Amino acid sequence: MKKTYTGVRGTSDFSPREAAFLNHIVQTARNIFKIFGYEEIILPVLEEEGVFSRGVGETSDIVEKQMFKIARRSEEASSDIVLRPEGTAQVVRYYLENSLHKQSDFYKFCYIGPMFRGERPQKGRLRQFHHIGAEAIGSDSPYIDAEMINLAMRILGGVGVSQKELKINSLGCAQDKQKFSKDLKEKLTERKNELCPDCLRRLEKNPLRVLDCKEESCKRVVASLKLGTAHLCDSCKKQFNEVCRILTDLGISYIHEPYLVRGLDYYTNTVFEIISKGIGSCDAIGAGGRYNALINDLGGPAIPALGFALGIERVMLALSSPQASEKLDVFIANLGEAATAAGFKLLEEMRNEKIPADMDYCSKSLKAQLRYAQRLGVRFVAIIGEEELKEGVVVLKDMGASTQVKVKKEEFIVELKKQAQH
Ligand SMILES: [Zn+2]
Ligand SMILES: [Zn+2]
Repeated sequence: MKKTYTGVRGTSDFSPREAAFLNHIVQTARNIFKIFGYEEIILPVLEEEGVFSRGVGETSDIVEKQMFKIARRSEEASSDIVLRPEGTAQVVRYYLENSLHKQSDFYKFCYIGPMFRGERPQKGRLRQFHHIGAEAIGSDSPYIDAEMINLAMRILGGVGVSQKELKINSLGCAQDKQKFSKDLKEKLTERKNELCPDCLRRLEKNPLRVLDCKEESCKRVVASLKLGTAHLCDSCKKQFNEVCRILTDLGISYIHEPYLVRGLDYYTNTVFEIISKGIGSCDAIGAGGRYNALINDLGGPAIPALGFALGIERVMLALSSPQASEKLDVFIANLGEAATAAGFKLLEEMRNEKIPADMDYCSKSLKAQLRYAQRLGVRFVAIIGEEELKEGVVVLKDMGASTQVKVKKEEFIVELKKQAQH
């Protein structure tokens, strides 16, 4: 016996039913993106490591332990090649590479595709997963913050995620963030002995990361800190209040969560996270925020921007049962070689009429063919045997109503369409 293979750990196969479910989510998102004026771009899964180490941040978990490195570009190159862990820094790379800021002040992009993680896969953390994301580049208006959140919520609503909770916070501008980080460091240093080894390191390099720690003892320390909006300057406070007001006007309810910082260094001002109650308390199905310094960090001018991403696998988890996949309308059961040829011809005619149809290719018995048709869930079966061939007819069987009629071959499609309307 030859060796058989299993899929790579941390990756998943999508069965026809799951693929149809995923496509339904993607199609819903595309429709809503269109209504909101976001244009889709398709970028490669390969990217230089620097895009993320500089963009997302050296101390972020993504860069520290989760990047999927695949090759060194060349001996001279400054950066290795990785499988992209997220979309935002890559969209900014695309934006800057094409000097889009010289062509227009404002852009709205969306993207859909696989993302990768290099760390050892664990429950709920895949090596390959899929994101639906959007970015708006060039505006500082609180209306675009609210639009971005509205967009994410609408897509989730559109695919049927009803039990969801929106958490928002503001990190403030770069100066506010620095102040926040400094205050946090002071408060956390006092309780150093309660923090995990990872957080002791974070405390030195990037204290904000401690707020994301999943260790119980660290979570306890964080929960006891009195965090609020004190770190925000007047203009950032005003901006955040405006975002909240507009969300309220839109009828979108939210929770102000002062501990919410998100795991990526590039965020400034508004950050948000959408939790589905269906899949456990710590699992965000989507998240996003402003990244007013990222374009500058990646070598461009200071241009404000923001975005979000939804995890498609997590959205699928949050929805109880997959949608039914697209069904074939007609199955042709044929008996004998001549009938197979006639069936194949009829199949082509139906496909020309855009009627989803298929036939038997395995010379099964009529009984077996009908059983197969039932499994496919088709509504109609067209039966062609030797007798039907001689008479120039086709038997049209309605599987739902359990009725059947003989139809002249030339009138078959007209009759089928007539019956399909009932
Ligand atoms: Zn500020
Ligand atoms: Zn910790």
